[in-house]
Amino acid sequence: MALKALDIYKILPKKNCKECGEPTCLTFAMKLASGKGDVNLCPYLDAEARELLGASTKPPVAKVTIGVGERSVTIGEETVFFRHEKTFVHPPGIFFEVSDLDSDEAIHAVATRVFSESFVRIGQSLQWSGLAVRCRSQSPERYAAVVDSIEKKGYHLPLVLVADTPALLEAALPRAGQFRPLLHAARQDTANEMSTLARNYGCPLVVADPDHDRLLSLATRSEGAIGQDLLLDASPATLRELLVSSSRIRMEAISRVPGAGYPLYVDAGGIEGTISAVLLAVLKFGGVIVTPPLDAASARAALTLRQNIYTDPQRPIQMSPGLYRLGNPGPDSPVFLTVNFSLTYFTLTSYLEATGEPCYLLLADTEGLSVLTAVASGKLSETTVKEAVQKAGLENVVSHRTLIIPGYAAPLSGKIEDATGWKVLVGPRDAAEVGEFLEKEWHS
Ligand code: SF4
Repeated sequence: MALKALDIYKILPKKNCKECGEPTCLTFAMKLASGKGDVNLCPYLDAEARELLGASTKPPVAKVTIGVGERSVTIGEETVFFRHEKTFVHPPGIFFEVSDLDSDEAIHAVATRVFSESFVRIGQSLQWSGLAVRCRSQSPERYAAVVDSIEKKGYHLPLVLVADTPALLEAALPRAGQFRPLLHAARQDTANEMSTLARNYGCPLVVADPDHDRLLSLATRSEGAIGQDLLLDASPATLRELLVSSSRIRMEAISRVPGAGYPLYVDAGGIEGTISAVLLAVLKFGGVIVTPPLDAASARAALTLRQNIYTDPQRPIQMSPGLYRLGNPGPDSPVFLTVNFSLTYFTLTSYLEATGEPCYLLLADTEGLSVLTAVASGKLSETTVKEAVQKAGLENVVSHRTLIIPGYAAPLSGKIEDATGWKVLVGPRDAAEVGEFLEKEWHS
């Protein structure tokens, strides 16, 4: 079990000397307990305490990176079983699978889709993570040629190389090994050769076994050879097995059972009801999820669910502050001021668009807080409004000098007028009433 802050505090030297960068030993203990501190920053710990704290304060699920550069995927570093305890840290990588028996055109069509497909939701661009290249031909030459042609196209996508034998992977690795592909998989009879390949090319490795105890013991064995660049594949054949195995492994990882502290690899294509397996793996601790290319509706469902589950509930999703145009507004169009809480933005935008009135929407930087919270906490104030007006160069955008502020910000109206020199109209509290407001207050 991870140590709690007070348990850690008892082990610290209690000098309160600040040399770790924290004001007291207790705040350092709290940082370590949250998994964000580095035990080596305290110079007064003896070797035994350092080892104890180092082992018990690092995240129970190891961090693993697949690929290099901008599109690399980092997974793991998870610390909890339930999302309401603390946020989940790294969203799973979702990889579309191709086979070396597919035609070159088909393979590159999938690769192009993975490379370029994205859709924007709540201000974030959602994308696929990479490509899983499965060797079905059992031909080292064909497999190497397919991997080579993918790399030569310059997609720079993280790859999972899936093959039954070390010899097949060995054929492909000279083409892609320098880009840290994930290797699938070391089994009981191939663990030594697979570990050697992974170590020689510096690649992360999946260890696979459908038997839980043997899987963990295989992981423990492989740790000795390549360190912690490992993933676990429990090879579930049904949704039930997926749920049971992934839950059990996460529980045991948190309890620091040897061999359990690694991200999970899920081959959703090998489970009946592939899209259900993808979604279940997103919900239940998947680290890498491999699936045949999904149709448009399933694709959106998977990416949306991943975004929802891996959004930190303690941090509101924010829009970029600034000026947004709805329709084709001109110099006489109304300017609505509001906060940069994404839900406020999307709600207000949909009601404004429904009115058909071209207008400007000016988002003040309230660090993603809603109107009521931002007013109460002082994040929405005459100062932040003045900054927003100036940064947007609003005086050069419209010919009038009128700002429409949210109804819940009415107490600030006088201060905003004084600070900005703009006339303030207090809008409705409920965005649904914005059409009526425009008719009665703006056009009149
Ligand atoms: S360096 Fe060590 S002893 Fe000093 S305040 Fe930090 S935790 Fe305490």
